[in-house]
Amino acid sequence: MTARPRHLLDFEGWTPERLTALLDNADTMNQVLERPVKKVPALQGLTVCTAFFENSTRTRISFELAARRMSADVVSFATGNSSVSKGESLRDTIEVLTAYKVDAYIVRHAAAGAAHLVARYSGKPVINAGDGRRAHPTQALLDAYTVRQEYGSLEGKTVAIIGDIRHSRVARSNAELLPKLGAKVVLCGPATLLPADLAALPGVTLTTNPREAVRGAHAVMALRLQSERMSGGYLGSLQEYADVYQVNERLLAEAEAGAIVLHPGPMNRDLEISADTADSPRSRVLKQVENGQAVRMSVLYHLLVGRE
Ligand code: ASP
Repeated sequence: MTARPRHLLDFEGWTPERLTALLDNADTMNQVLERPVKKVPALQGLTVCTAFFENSTRTRISFELAARRMSADVVSFATGNSSVSKGESLRDTIEVLTAYKVDAYIVRHAAAGAAHLVARYSGKPVINAGDGRRAHPTQALLDAYTVRQEYGSLEGKTVAIIGDIRHSRVARSNAELLPKLGAKVVLCGPATLLPADLAALPGVTLTTNPREAVRGAHAVMALRLQSERMSGGYLGSLQEYADVYQVNERLLAEAEAGAIVLHPGPMNRDLEISADTADSPRSRVLKQVENGQAVRMSVLYHLLVGRE
């Protein structure tokens, strides 16, 4: 196998073999999470910092739990209660944390490329927990893991992703990852929210027609409208959007029988996904949440264990 990447900023430098090993290892982590004592000593003595310059529920909590389950010390930094609100720069903030001997960073930031900067400023392994609209690699890994858990393999499977593709780091990271693991990706949304350049990615096709997108799909992922990154003018009205692009039972009737439904959260029920579909037997939304912890344990293990 090629040398182990030092960071997980996006999937550049991550081979299919390495990614498959990471998902295989998440199976082991899931077994740890089934035990009465959900703790292993793998990261004992290491300090992991979750540095969240943007809001999060699932990603931050699951990373903190993942690190603690592996016996790391965890320090959590959030913009609201830090000196960033007093004007401190990203560089100064990271240099302060590094002076406290933090061994690795998990970073979320509204600016694309921020995790790369943290890697440069700290000299430590960095996991990107979402940078602007660019990448959210651990979300894509847990999505891939959830589809693989369902079908045994991603080879030959089709995942349709419907919603605000333009502003979604989840769509981008899945479009990079899933084809590396043998799956096809269909990205779907209104033309204003579907950047044509994504069609250049291997294994990725685009359509503005949701019925066409779900036809033959083994998994259908609904995405939230990322209003925090929209300056307006992309949609006629929310009702018109929901009428065409909502993932609901009517649309899913066109997918493969048994197709599963995914959503990275947070969900806006009855907008991008109908409430009954979110709660239906085909929904794997809470499975994704559950798998997130095991997948993030596996990522931490991969980056931090067995290195100098
Ligand atoms: N939680 C995901 C993200 O951080 C998706 C979303 O916010 O809609 O990108």
